[in-house]
Amino acid sequence: MNDVIPSPGLAPYAAGDDNSRGRRHPEPKPELRSEFQRDRDRIIHSNAFRRLVYKTQVFVNHEGDLYRTRVTHSIEVAQIARSVAVALRLNEPLTEAICLAHDLGHTPFGHAGQDALNECMREYGGFEHNLQSLRVVDELEERYAEFRGLNLTFECREGILKHCSLKNARQLGELGERFIKRQQPGLEAQIANLADEIAYNNHDVDDGIRAQLLDITALREVRMFRRQHDAVRARYPELSERRLVHETIRRMINHLVVDFIRATSAQLAQAQVRSIDEVRAYPQALAVLSEPCREEHLELKEFLREHVYRHYKVLRMTSKARRVLQQLFEAFFRDVSLMPTEHRDHALQAEDTHAAAGRARAVADYIAGMTDRYAILEHQRLFEPAERT
Ligand code: MG
Repeated sequence: MNDVIPSPGLAPYAAGDDNSRGRRHPEPKPELRSEFQRDRDRIIHSNAFRRLVYKTQVFVNHEGDLYRTRVTHSIEVAQIARSVAVALRLNEPLTEAICLAHDLGHTPFGHAGQDALNECMREYGGFEHNLQSLRVVDELEERYAEFRGLNLTFECREGILKHCSLKNARQLGELGERFIKRQQPGLEAQIANLADEIAYNNHDVDDGIRAQLLDITALREVRMFRRQHDAVRARYPELSERRLVHETIRRMINHLVVDFIRATSAQLAQAQVRSIDEVRAYPQALAVLSEPCREEHLELKEFLREHVYRHYKVLRMTSKARRVLQQLFEAFFRDVSLMPTEHRDHALQAEDTHAAAGRARAVADYIAGMTDRYAILEHQRLFEPAERT
């Protein structure tokens, strides 16, 4: 297979300022930056981005300083996706912006938190973290004089909304259309999506070893790990355990990224797409891994599910987290005046226009915005009599 050689200029199917569908609130062009650089910069300056520092990826923030948090995860996703975007002559700043924003709507305590909040919101429209990420950038950030939210480009918002139920898609207008028509997002979004999986599958191996949930003998059941581990051991027989593991993971990521670029490049050549709209209309995603690599990657993912995400120590943490969020939700929903004034006022206004569903959404917004440690603190303040309020 011919190697991909990055060449100057963007590919015809890349997103660009010239083919962007623009922003919801029209703005003058940025000076000395592209539209997508401006998107990325707005995301980095947002409150929601800074909160990711103290939000769980898998391990709760207080369990140790070296574990991934949502912010380091997002940066690792961006690093992988940018390499791929540049090699394929796609829009790098847009790719980066989507990656940095993709988890902005995540609740505290990772997926356990999202599931708990979704359960609490069942009668009031549910809670989806992807949709919440969009809500953060469209509504909840309060930074600009002329509009609510960050007023990002269509292409960036399209990338942030990775999944969406049909029911919600119908309420999202232009942005929801692709879920109804079963179309694809642009390539930058597709790349961010796959880079997310590559990043977490690999960093969760690293974090799982650090937390002593995984050992090397078990990991060697996974083909992708075993192959790289064997290669490193053969080449460096004296290498210390720590360096051996890191070198193995590094090689797994590289293997996946190289495959990702080659397989996507081959797909693009075969599909003959000539514009971003042809990418969107193509019947399937064009950003892919080769079939053998996809299978091995899936094997790694399954292994992690069994050995890390379902490990009793992780499950104990997630059950605790679920209870914390459920109790916070119940207490605030029953009596919104227990929330800080600004959130109480939001809840009362929302209740005026959307009845109980409005009140529930305002409570969910408050809880989803919390960091792990803030949620724990709020829980103590509400439920422990000796705690300061
Ligand atoms: Mg992610």
